[in-house]
Amino acid sequence: MGTIYRGGSRGALAGLRRPHLHPVPSVADRLNAERHELAGAACTAADPEVFFDGTQDATDVAKRICGGCPVRARCLWLALEHGEAFGIFGGLTADERRRLRRKGVSAA
Ligand code: SF4
Repeated sequence: MGTIYRGGSRGALAGLRRPHLHPVPSVADRLNAERHELAGAACTAADPEVFFDGTQDATDVAKRICGGCPVRARCLWLALEHGEAFGIFGGLTADERRRLRRKGVSAA
């Protein structure tokens, strides 16, 4: 089965907007590639699956990695800007980002 990729090219994380359209390895590969564009990203050598797994153990691992990341603010900004609905970005889960947005926090 070929890779289904329908993401736009608006920004660094644009391809992650509808990850349910991607086979999981492709999402992970793309996530890894996009995150590498953030120079100095702490997740460069991490398994990208932990950022999408959704289990508590994986979430804890991902958050620990993000916690020491020098580009965390930029990563979170990109996720908010692009309305990323899945995965952990900038140390926050999708639910945590939604709560931020409900409080009026945005990338703008
Ligand atoms: S904040 Fe987390 S997901 Fe974002 S670049 Fe840093 S380590 Fe990767």
